[in-house]
Amino acid sequence: MKVLIVGGGGREHALAWKCAASPRVRHVFVAPGNAGTALEAKTSNVDIASDDIDALLAFAAREDIALTIVGPEGPLVAGIVDRFSAARRACFGPTRAAARLEGSKAFAKDFLRRHRIPTASYATFTPANFDPGFIRAQRLPLVVKADGLAAGKGVVICETHDSAIAAAKGMFAGSFGAAGNNIVVEEFLQGEEVSFIVIASDHQVVPLATSQDHKRRDDGDRGPNTGGMGAYSPAPIVTPEAHARIMREVVEPTVRGLRLDGTPYTGFLYAGLMIAADGTPNVLEFNCRFGDPETQPILMRLKSDLVALCESALDGSLGRIEPEWDSRAALGVVMAAGGYPENYRRGDLIEGLDTAARLPGKIFHAGTRASGSQIFTAGGRVLCAVGMGSTVGAAQREAYALVHAVHWNGVQYRRDIGYLAIERE
Ligand code: AMP
Repeated sequence: MKVLIVGGGGREHALAWKCAASPRVRHVFVAPGNAGTALEAKTSNVDIASDDIDALLAFAAREDIALTIVGPEGPLVAGIVDRFSAARRACFGPTRAAARLEGSKAFAKDFLRRHRIPTASYATFTPANFDPGFIRAQRLPLVVKADGLAAGKGVVICETHDSAIAAAKGMFAGSFGAAGNNIVVEEFLQGEEVSFIVIASDHQVVPLATSQDHKRRDDGDRGPNTGGMGAYSPAPIVTPEAHARIMREVVEPTVRGLRLDGTPYTGFLYAGLMIAADGTPNVLEFNCRFGDPETQPILMRLKSDLVALCESALDGSLGRIEPEWDSRAALGVVMAAGGYPENYRRGDLIEGLDTAARLPGKIFHAGTRASGSQIFTAGGRVLCAVGMGSTVGAAQREAYALVHAVHWNGVQYRRDIGYLAIERE
């Protein structure tokens, strides 16, 4: 069979690599892919943007693609699954209606409240009904969020009422484009952040191996928020008790609620959680797709066939599947371009990839571009170096050996990915 992966980041490189490893898969296409996916066995890139649904569908029909897996949220929120389904093409991901869980934070908050799933208290505003008096009456800090997709940037944590009002007005004025036409103002939650990712198929759910990412750019979880600077699996903070609570109080009521609302969910479902001191798993956000960079370490640990997992979710037999995991830990370090997450450098020559390829572990590409036999930076997050080991500490050593083999002008990465887990070991 032929598989199509939609997207071109590190997550999509990992998805493509894992699908290509399936004995049933003859070829994997990645649209648009990156310099790393172009080098994988049985894999090639297709020059179609991830949001060009017409062209993706035409390509899938022409190549008779048996399974399409969508990496990023954009095409999912835009309805790629509905379009493929209408053309009777298997496409793994939620429908447009179910993807609103990520596409609209106001929708997600109303959904959480309606189904009594723990989350921060909140109010939503449009420019027409915005009430600065509401903000002045709240306890600080306050969190102001743009309603729509803002590439992970539409969240402002405000220490004063004035800055919260300014953030709200900035969003209405277009600081996050159309994403800020509506806003959510919510209570600031204390606790420890955890990501929890499952494969859902209507009422059936298979939790993936636990993971945790590092969102801040600098060591010690300081500096600006990013798309993610590294991740590891398993996450020791998700104890068996926490796991059971998250399934019972968040995941199960979420898929049940989506079904009750007439929008059953199939696909990867990612809950960003803040675990309170009393163990309550409060939902910070939902993502309607796999996490990046969580995908890279999680798929390094997955021993089962990913294609079979996605197919069983699509045909309703997911409940019979128990994925098999490598008992070792996996840890990925993101190597980013100079300046990321603000204006970053592009076009720097990446050196040392050949040396790294001879070391244990694996480097997944994200923002890379090939020119002849050379590979250049072409995005903010450039590579994710994943190591494995009997402990998170051992996986970290393997990952950093890869990192140290690779270099380009302005490269930046954190030196402490996994430190919280390693402290617990
Ligand atoms: P989100 O995109 O909603 O997950 O927000 C991005 C980041 O902002 C999260 O990963 C948290 O670190 C932080 N955040 C969002 N909402 C809250 C909240 N209510 N309380 C504390 N931190 C938050």
